[in-house]
Amino acid sequence: MSIKIENLKHVYMPGSPFEKTALEDVNLDIKTGEFITLIGHTGSGKSTLIQHMNGLLEATEGKIIIDGEDITAKGTKLSDVRKKVGLVFQYPEYQLFEETIEKDIQYGPRNLGLSEEEIFKRVKKSMEMVGLDYDTYKDKSPFDLSGGQKRRVAIAGVIAMEPKTLILDEPTAGLDPKGRDDILNQIQILHKQYGMTIILVSHSMEDVGRIAERIIVMNKGRVALQGTPGEVFKEIDTLEAIGLGVPQVTYLAKKLRDKGYPIREDVYTIEQCKEELIRIFRENNA
Ligand code: ADP
Repeated sequence: MSIKIENLKHVYMPGSPFEKTALEDVNLDIKTGEFITLIGHTGSGKSTLIQHMNGLLEATEGKIIIDGEDITAKGTKLSDVRKKVGLVFQYPEYQLFEETIEKDIQYGPRNLGLSEEEIFKRVKKSMEMVGLDYDTYKDKSPFDLSGGQKRRVAIAGVIAMEPKTLILDEPTAGLDPKGRDDILNQIQILHKQYGMTIILVSHSMEDVGRIAERIIVMNKGRVALQGTPGEVFKEIDTLEAIGLGVPQVTYLAKKLRDKGYPIREDVYTIEQCKEELIRIFRENNA
């Protein structure tokens, strides 16, 4: 499954004094199995863009082609789009409401009109996929869990709809460092082990540097940069100009380069920096 976006434009409240162009001239191609990180400042259009990808907003102009089907065309069944593309909103745990975890996760599949057997299978599997043991957690109240665990339940609720693509809006927001690491690891498992296409919205350069395979940078409603982390983080000046910056280790590498150490420009993890320093040390001592 692929998501292709052509010349997308979105204007909020057109014709009113509050008219706001949130997206303009957005062109993207997201392929099956990719892990995309969407970054950008507050107000750059990230939330608007992801809501278009599962048909929650109507395009002012342009096309969104999912699995070869233009979902902006009249007559598109948006409920079918939402089965393919699952969206986990910011702070999704606020939407938990049932008395047990099992009932909460059952909510979506039940609305699809599935059999009890199928609902059971999906709930059990989606709990496993987010790292929650079914027997241990099914009868617990979601409100008795930690922040990170509640978020896992909310993600399981979306996964139980069996989307091929999962979009997560700031999934680490408000979590402590351990909760943040746990959620990011779990999302990587969904990608690597279960083959889900992931689109993750973040404004944390440190998170992005750790997990991204391809980065899309938004600025003022447009795609400012896209590429591998190495390609994107090389553009320190452009990223700074739009108020984003790069991971700390990329700054460190730049400082060392400015002092004459021949460190590569595309360093964005501590591991890469270490390898570069060892290489330079060895070359100097050869
Ligand atoms: P981000 O997710 O990157 O913070 P958004 O997509 O939320 O950006 O917002 C893009 C722009 O659209 C901002 O200027 C924001 O104020 C505006 N905007 C977002 N939602 C609405 C809305 N429902 N009505 C009017 N303007 C909106």
